[in-house]
Amino acid sequence: MAGKVWFVGAGPGDPELITVKGRGLLERAGAVLFAGSLVDRAATLYAPDDSTIRDSKGMTLDEIVAWLIEQAARHETVVRLQTGDPTLYGALVEMVRPLAAAGIEWAVIPGVSSAMAAAAAAGETLTLPEVTQTVILTRVAGRTPMPPGEELEALAAHRTTLCIFLSVTLLHEVQRALRAAGWPEDAPILVVQKASWPGQEKIVRGTLADIKRRCQEEKIAAQAMIIASPTLGARHWQDIARSKLYDPAFGHRFRRASLTEGSSS
Ligand code: SAH
Repeated sequence: MAGKVWFVGAGPGDPELITVKGRGLLERAGAVLFAGSLVDRAATLYAPDDSTIRDSKGMTLDEIVAWLIEQAARHETVVRLQTGDPTLYGALVEMVRPLAAAGIEWAVIPGVSSAMAAAAAAGETLTLPEVTQTVILTRVAGRTPMPPGEELEALAAHRTTLCIFLSVTLLHEVQRALRAAGWPEDAPILVVQKASWPGQEKIVRGTLADIKRRCQEEKIAAQAMIIASPTLGARHWQDIARSKLYDPAFGHRFRRASLTEGSSS
């Protein structure tokens, strides 16, 4: 049998945040390899009782690939379940290349990234008209170095929204980079641990000055998203520039402008 391997985004943790398509694939999967504890519930909830389910924690990349190839020889549908969206920090290319070389079909089903889940949990927006219209998804260097030009200090100089993955144990480094880029000590910073996890989510709000201490007090040491953004807390501001999309003077594809003047896009 020549099965197909599906790289499925499980979403950020809440099993209900997988896509309908991803769940459908799990429901007919003969074998599921899930990436650690973050996504085990989706795997065990939706996969058939007689499917082969394995945790990839503790497996090397070569072992993962070998397992997927072996299962694709036995089952029509093999699912590699990844946290959030498979295209972000998911070693997708490293897994896909040997599968393709072995002649195995594969495809990717997107998922809700933890960056979006963290913003949602805290009721924050990542973009706001006339404040920032750009979101940078990044990390600080750990064992994986940052390519030249992508140091957080350089990215932070844009003063856009920063969603910082894999870095909560390196908060001192985040603080240093934002300071070097000129962010003020009272710049708001948000940290969300286990965003969307029923009963386990932790939301920590602080400033550039105190976010590290606050996270220490809350004992946050893993599975957390850091969001630094000039939009944080905007729902409490006195004035915000109204989104042009809802401005009556702004016509778009679905609605004609109610004023003829000033209605250019
Ligand atoms: N592909 C994933 C990211 C994997 S890298 C995605 O799209 O979300 C792992 C990092 O993602 C963690 O270090 C943490 O920064 C973040 N992360 C994953 N799940 C999370 C969650 N439920 N809440 C907060 N951060 C999470």
